[in-house]
Amino acid sequence: MCYVNNYLERLRESSLNTYSLLDPHTREEIRDIPDCSDIQMKEAITKSKQAFNKMRALTSEERSNILDRASSIIAENREDFAQTITLESGKPIKFARGEVDRTIQTLKFASIEARKLEGESIRLDAATNGGGRDAYTIYQPIGVVGAITPFNFPLNLVVHKAGPALGVGNTIIVKPAEKTPLSAIKLAEFFEQAGLPDGAYQVVTGDGPRLGKVLIDHPDVQKITFTGSPQVGEHIKSQAGLKKVTLELGSNSALYIDESVHNKVQEIAKKAVNGAFSYNGQVCISTQRIYVHKDVKEEFITSFKMATESLQYGDPREDTTDISGVIDQKSQQRILSWIEEAIHEGAELITGGTMEDNGVKPTVLANVSSRSKVACKEVFGPVVLINTVDSAETALTEMNNSEYGLNAGVFTYDLPQAFNFAHKLEVGQVLVNDLPTLRFDHMPYGGLKSSGYGYEGIKYAMREMVHMKFISMNYTF
Ligand code: NAD
Repeated sequence: MCYVNNYLERLRESSLNTYSLLDPHTREEIRDIPDCSDIQMKEAITKSKQAFNKMRALTSEERSNILDRASSIIAENREDFAQTITLESGKPIKFARGEVDRTIQTLKFASIEARKLEGESIRLDAATNGGGRDAYTIYQPIGVVGAITPFNFPLNLVVHKAGPALGVGNTIIVKPAEKTPLSAIKLAEFFEQAGLPDGAYQVVTGDGPRLGKVLIDHPDVQKITFTGSPQVGEHIKSQAGLKKVTLELGSNSALYIDESVHNKVQEIAKKAVNGAFSYNGQVCISTQRIYVHKDVKEEFITSFKMATESLQYGDPREDTTDISGVIDQKSQQRILSWIEEAIHEGAELITGGTMEDNGVKPTVLANVSSRSKVACKEVFGPVVLINTVDSAETALTEMNNSEYGLNAGVFTYDLPQAFNFAHKLEVGQVLVNDLPTLRFDHMPYGGLKSSGYGYEGIKYAMREMVHMKFISMNYTF
């Protein structure tokens, strides 16, 4: 595996300061990473602005071909990328491979959508005195996009911003999470091989608040696209002034299982265990709150507990590992303290609840108070609650009793019930007969309430990275 590439070396040479990148599994140093200066960020912005002239001069076919080639190059280097993700994030290798596979597709979608960004024809003669004109809209690139990304999907979430930005003819500067900068850096070399103009994709590593501020304040950055915690998202929006902003933030996603699916309860429980504990629950749409109808509760909890206890804790590099260490000690301590608080506030511990090496044992709690942090905040760890409800209406009320609103899932064979949930759930995406932990990379994806502002999903992200221009031709003049 090659995680030290020319790009990283160049960044390192021009940087005075560094910080230690730790392997989350062993907590040992992987290597030092440049803590870039404000000046380096400003230089990157200048270079990005110059590269914009080259990017917007390309045809959509040329941009599409570059993204398609980048996708193929990543496919050829699938295992190398997967190992890089595992090394920096501690993500079990089978999930890291899944992330690379999704990235390959994300870039394919970007390549396709790059050819399809079309405006529309407007009938001006529908307005009094509007006749005699042909009118239409076009989309134009905006310039330099600043991307700030989180630790948990260090490759695919970078591509969710770079793919659409480059596809429409913008340039992009990525400020990756301090804890997981390697995948974004590796990507730079592959974009170069795919024929992307120099400077169109750049990575600037280092301190988030400081470098983020340079990006947000700089007049030559036209848009900030951020994925991360609601606290930082809110801060960015309050600082961004008139800049375009997209915020993809956190959640405490809920799932309801009603009594109509009684013959599928064991199957749903097994799926839901994956939704709750993939990558140790460090997923923005992790299944965190489960509401189960009283008639199917016993079977559900028994199956859920059994499937949870069969998960293998271990080295993330091993194919057999399901659960590994959480991202850092601070997270581990916070998660354990929230579990303790919930138990103190009356929750029943079904399984887990303690630390394991650098992680937390997959933890299932029942009868959790809606005031406990594991219910009302985002845990971002391997913890799930299962509360029993008497009716679908109670489940709906509980599910909506949240400051977040990203994804929600409902298992039901009752069609009116499905429509009722679909219309009344206060979230961006409703998944009927699927878990909330589901995202396909081309679907629209955005949160309500504290979960976000704006949309991703390639085509939808592109619309947020362009200017729509209206043009009218008066052919009677
Ligand atoms: P985080 O908010 O701590 O950090 C995200 C990024 O913001 C990092 O690059 C960090 O350096 C930078 N940053 C920190 N403070 C900043 C500031 N003041 N100004 C500008 N940038 C700043 O998030 P994290 O711990 O890396 O990731 C976990 C969070 O991300 C969770 O809340 C999770 O739900 C969310 N997330 C959301 C989605 C989504 O699509 N909705 C996807 C993945 C993760």
